[in-house]
Amino acid sequence: MSHTQVAIIGAGPSGLLLSQLLHLNGIDTVVIERQSRRHVEGRIRAGVLEQGTSELLIEAQVGGRMLKERLVHEGFGLGFSDRSFRVDLKGLSGAAVSIYGQTEVTKDLMDARTAAGARLVFEAADVSVAGFETAHPTVRYRHEGRIHELTCDYIAGCDGYHGVCRRSVPAGALQTFERAYPFGWLGVLADVPPATEEILYSNHARGFAMCSMRSLTRSRYYIQCGVDEAIEAWPDSRFWDELRARLPASVAASVVTGPSIEKSIAPLRSFVVEPMRFGRLFLVGDAAHIVPPTGAKGLNLAVADVRVLYQALAERYRTGRADALERYSERCLRRVWKAVRFSWWFTTIMHKFSDEPFAHRLQLAELDYLTGSTAALTSVAENYVGLRFDAP
Ligand SMILES: Cc1cc2nc3c(=O)[nH]c(=O)nc-3n(C[C@H](O)[C@H](O)[C@H](O)COP(=O)(O)OP(=O)(O)OC[C@H]3O[C@@H](n4cnc5c(N)ncnc54)[C@H](O)[C@@H]3O)c2cc1C
Repeated sequence: MSHTQVAIIGAGPSGLLLSQLLHLNGIDTVVIERQSRRHVEGRIRAGVLEQGTSELLIEAQVGGRMLKERLVHEGFGLGFSDRSFRVDLKGLSGAAVSIYGQTEVTKDLMDARTAAGARLVFEAADVSVAGFETAHPTVRYRHEGRIHELTCDYIAGCDGYHGVCRRSVPAGALQTFERAYPFGWLGVLADVPPATEEILYSNHARGFAMCSMRSLTRSRYYIQCGVDEAIEAWPDSRFWDELRARLPASVAASVVTGPSIEKSIAPLRSFVVEPMRFGRLFLVGDAAHIVPPTGAKGLNLAVADVRVLYQALAERYRTGRADALERYSERCLRRVWKAVRFSWWFTTIMHKFSDEPFAHRLQLAELDYLTGSTAALTSVAENYVGLRFDAP
């Protein structure tokens, strides 16, 4: 049996970042991950970092490569009615976003943690958490054929939507809020130069499309698709044709095609669990909330939770006071619900929900209003770059 101060379940961005920030504050952690390190490092996911996220990565001393390699975007595009409109994020909100893949964030965190000699356990099977309603929580897992038991002061459930932590809380103690959308996103990653300098979200009668990128030579494109569609039904040529058909003609003409290096379909859902703390178990990131990717909020929300939790734990170990830990759930949920609202709204105006022409006309009217109103655009820009952090 071994002991740590904070046991962290999951080595996604939230688990690794929490471990790094706690380490810098002199707090010992063990990170327990179900998958292999290679699997975790290879996962292709988010790519837009809010300014607050970049700042926390710098504070965590893992921002060096990001500062060198990121693309800073001071705006993004909205495509509709065969035209493209630029939302001037910097001019409207004073802030910008960084394009830097979640894969790279994970790699930087993994390297920093490994260099510091962190205890990271990969390929842990049958992970279970217990005793978090007492002062002595425990984590059990099987690794290399042996059962291990870890005692700790606190457990951070950073194990994503399908993790074990949320499911370990007694039924009835948590309330869940959920909305599944009747479509998914088919994503393609390709080593071709991006069609647009900044991210473009396109509303089209055929369905939503998005032009994104990871670098000046690597593009990430998405199109709305049926949630049950088979990936095999989407050979590259069909994907590129459909993408171009859903973009303003001037943008479609700039799409450079090439073989996909990754292709996947992701369902879209909004999900929140309340509260995000149960005794000494704290739910962090996707373990507590999921948003549709339209607003680029998933990773950023996970990082915002980590900010609140690491500061509260640091205060607890420095002063003995636990009041910031008591307020963890309430503080996080205020931000979470605003991001859930923004992501839901953006999803609603950009996607095709039905064949009803009335619904599409309403979306176009809203986009026309939005792009003609500085007040409306300012609200969108503030939300997109990331809302300010509430006072502790
Ligand atoms: C396919 C996909 C595409 C996405 N695209 C975007 C996007 O374009 N933009 C955006 O903003 N967001 C996107 N997201 C969301 C974003 O990637 C997440 O919000 C982010 O990864 C959350 O980080 P996390 O560390 O909380 O959870 P995760 O990254 O899910 O990490 C959880 C970790 O816990 C591990 N784990 C799970 N169960 C256990 C267990 N029982 N024991 C131990 N370990 C366990 C998992 O293997 C994983 O490593 C996407 C998500 C997915 C799934």
